[in-house]
Amino acid sequence: MNKLRDILPSEPLLLMGAGPVPITSVVARANGVVINHLGPTMNKVIDGLQTHARYVFQTEAEHIIGVAGPSSAAMEMMIAGVLWPGRTALVLSEGIFGERWAEMARRCGATVETMHPEEQGGFSVKQFTERCDQLKPDVVLMTHGETSVGRFVPELATLASVAKKRKALVLVDTVTTLGVVDVPMDDWQLDGVIAGGQKGLGSIPGISLVALSDDAWSVITNRAEPPTQWVLDAKAAWEFWGPNHGYHYTAPVPGVLALFQALELIADEGLDERFARHQASSVALQQALTAMGLQLSVEEPYRLQSVVAINVPDRVESQQIRSFMADTFGVEISGSFGANIIRIGQMGEQCRAHNLFKTVYALGMACRYYGVEVNVAAAMSTLEEQLASDPETFVV
Ligand SMILES: *Cc1c(COP(=O)(O)O)cnc(C)c1O
Repeated sequence: MNKLRDILPSEPLLLMGAGPVPITSVVARANGVVINHLGPTMNKVIDGLQTHARYVFQTEAEHIIGVAGPSSAAMEMMIAGVLWPGRTALVLSEGIFGERWAEMARRCGATVETMHPEEQGGFSVKQFTERCDQLKPDVVLMTHGETSVGRFVPELATLASVAKKRKALVLVDTVTTLGVVDVPMDDWQLDGVIAGGQKGLGSIPGISLVALSDDAWSVITNRAEPPTQWVLDAKAAWEFWGPNHGYHYTAPVPGVLALFQALELIADEGLDERFARHQASSVALQQALTAMGLQLSVEEPYRLQSVVAINVPDRVESQQIRSFMADTFGVEISGSFGANIIRIGQMGEQCRAHNLFKTVYALGMACRYYGVEVNVAAAMSTLEEQLASDPETFVV
């Protein structure tokens, strides 16, 4: 039987894929602590975590709920709370995570319609408005950054306001955008925002966050029947996450502490500074990849800054490039589910100069090894120029 220490690499791989992202040592330390899940210390932890979360979600919303589970569990908690047979959901989908919203909504017995972006473009506001007027959805479900294909929804605020004016609840998956780019929940009048730990927030996988507006909360609390889910019942979870701080189920204490620490790091850095660092880093990466001779798969303004998708060059397999990078340089990037792309993450600690240099170099060398003509020197010098051009935004 293999020992765990024989299974894990002696040096952990640098996680430069679409998540999970590397965690800082302080987050790792918090993740190594277990305290009682109930009682005065935990109560302070919950209150503090919610205060930081309100800053990161840019909301005054009271109902911030942690979920013991992946981001998908946070999605499911929201869906389960606001949808049931007889209700209608309109899903804006451009990939796997949009389809996941739709599938979850169907499983709650709701009537579900899906809308896709236009060819080579984004979601048409005009078309969306017509669909809303026709369908009168109770809930609109969106994915701010579709990680699976590296696509971003720049018109999200406009779409949300169209839906909100028609009295639909607007729920948004911001797993790869919250903590990376501006997502002002209250300004955009979003009713539900979900975030996972392991991506934009820079924490561990397996504990996630839900933020709910008063409108969403009133639907959840006024429904005739409770949802069939028990663990993912938001109202039941509020027993622990609300002022009672009572028992619902045993919270994943180390994960809660890690999430608190990760949110605190974001607050300490400041949202504006953090957004600027992420943008400078991702732009430098994109320019370096282009200088190398590789092709980015999504055009602006639909390119997702936090997960940059690159077309796999001819005559080489995604898996060959990825294995070479991992085996030779200890850098791991993502393939994809379906499309012939590789993906490099730009979330949290992935947006540091030393990690960019290592990743771009490893990718360039992998391409070269497999006979793809690339200009590695141009890529490296572009990185250097981009990252060091302004000492103020120097991405350390
Ligand atoms: C990763 C991801 C999810 C799912 O996260 P899990 O933690 O694997 O459940 C959902 N939505 C988006 C946009 C993601 O990137």
